[in-house]
Amino acid sequence: MNPQPLVPDTDPHRLAAAIGGHHLIAGQLVRAASGKTFAVVNPATGREVANAALGDNDDIHRAVSAAARAQIAWAAMPARKRGALVSDCARLLAEHVEELGRLVALETGKALRTESRVEAGVVADALQFYGGLASELKGESVPFNPEMLTVTQREPIGVVGVIIPWNAPMMLMALKIAPALVAGNTVVVKSAEEAPLAVLRVCQILNQKLPAGVLNIVSGFGPECGAPLVAHPQVGKVTFTGSVETGRIVARMAGEKLIPVTLELGGKSPMIVMGDADIDKAVNGAVAGMRFTRQGQSCTAASRILVHDAVHDAFVTALKARVDAMTMGDPLDEATDIGTLISRTQLAKVLDYIESGRAMPGAKALECSALPAQDHLRQGLFVRPVIFTGLDNGCRLAREEIFGPVTCVIRFRSYDEAIAMANDSAYGLAATIWTRDLKTALDATRRLQAGFVQVNQNIVVQPGLSYGGIKQSGLGREASLEAMLEHFTHKKTVIFNMN
Ligand code: ADP
Ligand code: MG
Repeated sequence: MNPQPLVPDTDPHRLAAAIGGHHLIAGQLVRAASGKTFAVVNPATGREVANAALGDNDDIHRAVSAAARAQIAWAAMPARKRGALVSDCARLLAEHVEELGRLVALETGKALRTESRVEAGVVADALQFYGGLASELKGESVPFNPEMLTVTQREPIGVVGVIIPWNAPMMLMALKIAPALVAGNTVVVKSAEEAPLAVLRVCQILNQKLPAGVLNIVSGFGPECGAPLVAHPQVGKVTFTGSVETGRIVARMAGEKLIPVTLELGGKSPMIVMGDADIDKAVNGAVAGMRFTRQGQSCTAASRILVHDAVHDAFVTALKARVDAMTMGDPLDEATDIGTLISRTQLAKVLDYIESGRAMPGAKALECSALPAQDHLRQGLFVRPVIFTGLDNGCRLAREEIFGPVTCVIRFRSYDEAIAMANDSAYGLAATIWTRDLKTALDATRRLQAGFVQVNQNIVVQPGLSYGGIKQSGLGREASLEAMLEHFTHKKTVIFNMN
């Protein structure tokens, strides 16, 4: 445990410079074995803010070895003691919310007030939630034979590899590391190359409370640093959030080793607005669900909004007005609602979707809000949100995950048609229906093919509620007690024959 207390630093540039260029292995900030680094760029200005350590196979091996060494003692600790340590971590993290919010805003371009500070708060909440669940790691007694004692027990898997994306890096990491740690596993995280700093800081803070080696983090690129983590013989489980394409690669490698994987992949989540819906509430739900404040960079983004013919035009007008009223600007400015996209690659991809949508016959692209005018943001990766109307559910924009501020409002005439369109997707992550009619709502919750279905609201993943997809959206569930038990432990059956 680190004896020197970490003082929160709310100057994200200074903090980035101080911690950049390191992995965290066996309780220590260390440089890459190769000595190499890569640049971390502020997407709002295009300027480099710090370096990150460029991890490879050697660093992964060092981190996994440290985790494997620490695992025996960690697993031998009473579960409630592990839980208490994770709860201590949550309390300590709560003191760093402001600094973490500012740091993640700097590296991702997500607005501080609407997104980044909120994300930092959720991290502490997720740790708190799992810290309290330690005593639920219990088994059963089984009536196998009255002359024997037969029990099951939950045991940790060992070393868990955690691979995360950049869109909500701290939150997605917390939802994986907290249950893994409480269950008695030790962890090696591979951060996303676009956002390595805030998650490193979170791990540094948690290492104030956790024994050395229990939680390690390595930064680097996918094939050079993520793949060796999945392939490492001492890694017994991988939990991944990212694209379908990379998810398949990870699952294939895990399949070769026959280790379990949890995959949280993409989505093309439908939102059905019936003719009797409360339009104001549905519009607010569309803004929240589409994550316009995060430039739509969310796997649950309500990126297909299916609206009944009778209310379609009124809905579109109201939605445009709401998004128009949002302020795009410097992510660190409290007045900003919407920040930037993450990278030039994503920008090119999103602009290509917008161009191809415009070229579709009958399509109309409503551009919303206004680009920021300040000089220092000239190179920023800002994109005006776009609401498309007149597109068909079968077109590319309605089928593929855009991961940008682009939503398609699609007209329907009957409820059955809406359900059919909603389910006509390769994905099945989330879905919502907006109606005042209880019977329709209940029927829809049964028919919608998704892992997370809501009626008349569109809230994000919550600690305590199982979250995850069906179809191409992934394997396994996160955020709940069940997620900890099913995905981070093995169930062992033990029989005592005392004859
Ligand atoms: P994106 O579209 O943002 O690049 P990815 O799914 O490729 O999404 O990335 C999510 C995470 O997966 C990142 O941490 C990335 O470095 C990692 N990753 C990418 N390729 C691989 C790979 N071949 N093996 C393991 N991890 C990878
Ligand atoms: Mg990638």
